Amino acid sequence: MQDTYGRKVDYMRVSITDRCNLRCRYCMPEGISRVPMEEILTLEEIAAVCTQAAGLGIRKLKVTGGEPLVRPDCPKLIGMLKEIPGIEQVTLTSNGILLPEFAEELYQVGVDGVNVSLDTLDAGEYQEITGYDGLDKVLSGIARMELYPIPLKINVVLRPGRQECWQELLELARDRRLDVRFIEMMPIGYGKNFEAVSNDWVLARIREQYGEIDREWEPHGNGPAVYYKIPGFQGSVGFISAIHGKFCSQCNRIRLTALGQLKPCLCYGESISLREAVRAGRMEEVRALLKQAIDNKPEAHCFDNQNIMTETREMVRIGG
Ligand code: SAM
Ligand code: SF4
Repeated sequence: MQDTYGRKVDYMRVSITDRCNLRCRYCMPEGISRVPMEEILTLEEIAAVCTQAAGLGIRKLKVTGGEPLVRPDCPKLIGMLKEIPGIEQVTLTSNGILLPEFAEELYQVGVDGVNVSLDTLDAGEYQEITGYDGLDKVLSGIARMELYPIPLKINVVLRPGRQECWQELLELARDRRLDVRFIEMMPIGYGKNFEAVSNDWVLARIREQYGEIDREWEPHGNGPAVYYKIPGFQGSVGFISAIHGKFCSQCNRIRLTALGQLKPCLCYGESISLREAVRAGRMEEVRALLKQAIDNKPEAHCFDNQNIMTETREMVRIGG
């Protein structure tokens, strides 16, 4: 379906929990007040919403959170979403801590891609960022995923003053079939406490170290990432530059939170609750609310003018 600005919206990010086993400094350093489980959509309710979304032209789903794998039925849900007519791709984004346990099951249910968030390869720094001594688990999770023919991406958010780790993270893509993507910090929730390291800075360092690199034009995923190939590297490097490379004119997505709220744009607090309608089985209404969320997508985010930003929730509540 097209929004009022003529953009084709065919992608929905589906948060299945606002809980997480990490406490990333820029996301939920102090944890969050727990929402009772009965307020969170059940698997059946999530699948019912996604079925209506597919009817409106949503083709790709990303399962996210919080940390989606803290919900042990996450692979089962992915299997259910894969069955929905019209849905072409179901991918997952995870912090990787539980991937050693879930990798095989994710493969078996047919997940179409896995993104793993990893901001450093230094164990102490990992603990400092996430509040948990878990680097080894994430690395073994990545190694387990590599056993399966599933596209794998590493998502890196750099922090000012610590950005020199870009190169060792990038080097993960040299001998492995995975992409490394740099995501600019956005001023959402605790992210407001950090400056964004510009992806232009990273690209300039890459050019200094590796010479001229070629832009890749074929899509690697669902989103606004821009990819480059580095000679001798198996994987590619990607950049998601929400701050220094505003890509709103190509925005193709809406978000569904774990509590059943639709979010047309990350930057604005507006959300449309469809929980009551889905719980009452009023599917026509669910579809109308989805349509409303797509219609209501604003033209662009306003991260460059935080005074008019109206989203006050943490990333973990919105569904990153
Ligand atoms: N727990 C999962 C994970 O870490 O991948 C999924 C949810 S998490 C909110 C999704 C992504 O959002 C992660 O890659 C995380 O680094 C990123 N993120 C969180 N807060 C952010 C912010 N303020 N700006 C940019 N990215 C952010
Ligand atoms: Fe959890 Fe992901 Fe947020 Fe880190 S970024 S606290 S792993 S939800």
